[in-house]
Amino acid sequence: MPTVFVTGGAGFIGSALVRSLIAQSGYHVVNIDKLTYAGNLDSLQSVSRCARYVFEHVDICDGPALRSLFRRYAPVGVFHLAAESHVDRSIEGPAAFVETNVVGTCTLLTESLAFWKERTAVERARFRFLHVSTDEVFGSLGESGAFDETTPYAPNSPYSASKAGSDHLVRAWHHTYGFPAITTNGSNTYGPFQFPEKLIPLMVQRALAGEALPVYGRGENVRDWLYVDDHASALRVAFEHGLPGECYCVGGRSERTNIAVVREMCALLDAMRPMRQSGGHASLIEYVADRPGHDFRYAIDSGRIERELGWRPLDDFESGLRKTVEWYLDNEAWVARIGSGAYRDQLGLPSVFADATP
Ligand code: NAD
Repeated sequence: MPTVFVTGGAGFIGSALVRSLIAQSGYHVVNIDKLTYAGNLDSLQSVSRCARYVFEHVDICDGPALRSLFRRYAPVGVFHLAAESHVDRSIEGPAAFVETNVVGTCTLLTESLAFWKERTAVERARFRFLHVSTDEVFGSLGESGAFDETTPYAPNSPYSASKAGSDHLVRAWHHTYGFPAITTNGSNTYGPFQFPEKLIPLMVQRALAGEALPVYGRGENVRDWLYVDDHASALRVAFEHGLPGECYCVGGRSERTNIAVVREMCALLDAMRPMRQSGGHASLIEYVADRPGHDFRYAIDSGRIERELGWRPLDDFESGLRKTVEWYLDNEAWVARIGSGAYRDQLGLPSVFADATP
């Protein structure tokens, strides 16, 4: 069976994609990840012994290392998810975001193009490079409207600016070299295995510990919430059926204010793990100073990927949030190993497929 690369496969969405590729396809999967603080091999335990899965501890900024991976595995395509992904961290330290998201994407594109050019015509026609981007590149919406593939770029944070830079490089690689790249712009994603610095897992952990639930501003910022398995299925559909050179917006049809998300999560926790004190988990909510430059509203029109590629999200926000909260309650050990730092201890398994012939 053919091999695909997944960069950032030890991250939140990348690990969901790797698990689904192993469970639902015949691909051999090479997970290329630097294991920053956000990379967690614990999230891949269910596939780590599979003969079709390999982990490669490589930085996407390292051109020679990428070159040798292309030579060794000769993939039919790349799912590119490796990135610095947390907006608050990008405000504190933008340089790492430029390094990985812009320079790293340029390095990966350069090595992918060099590999692609050496393939036969049939192999070149089959190859795909799927670049995984965000709706944040489009900036902020007012009370109405939605982003789609024609929306002009207007990134507002160092994170979204670095992702916009990478999107432009991908576009240029297609336009200039005919390189078969496709971009997806996905909305705020949530679900199991998300690093507990992001809104939903952070709030679940704090609520379980009886700690204050800090909500930016008045909690009125709106995001379009997308369940992680739906995001992963959109990436696969775009990789297999998308048109080279095109972009696809991916959203969950689930617009919610931040405060509504936190209140829904509190209500679920009240039912699943009631607090001893009266008032319920929502009594822990505290409004804090807003994030600088906080975009007011994001909404996605996913009409194109739905119409042209037949993709649909399977979970709405209620079912996705319920599954997510249940998962965090059932997997406190996964979170505890992050809290203690133990998740950093393990490195991957051998860097060749177990079923590879010598
Ligand atoms: P994440 O932070 O959970 O994971 C990122 C992964 O990339 C980690 O495993 C990390 O170790 C790895 N990585 C970072 N720098 C690297 C480097 N230089 N070389 C190799 N690996 C490196 O991110 P996520 O939330 O899973 O997001 C994955 C992708 O999807 C990102 O490109 C992000 O911009 C995009 N995206 C995320 C969301 C969201 O809501 N989380 C929404 C839309 C798009």
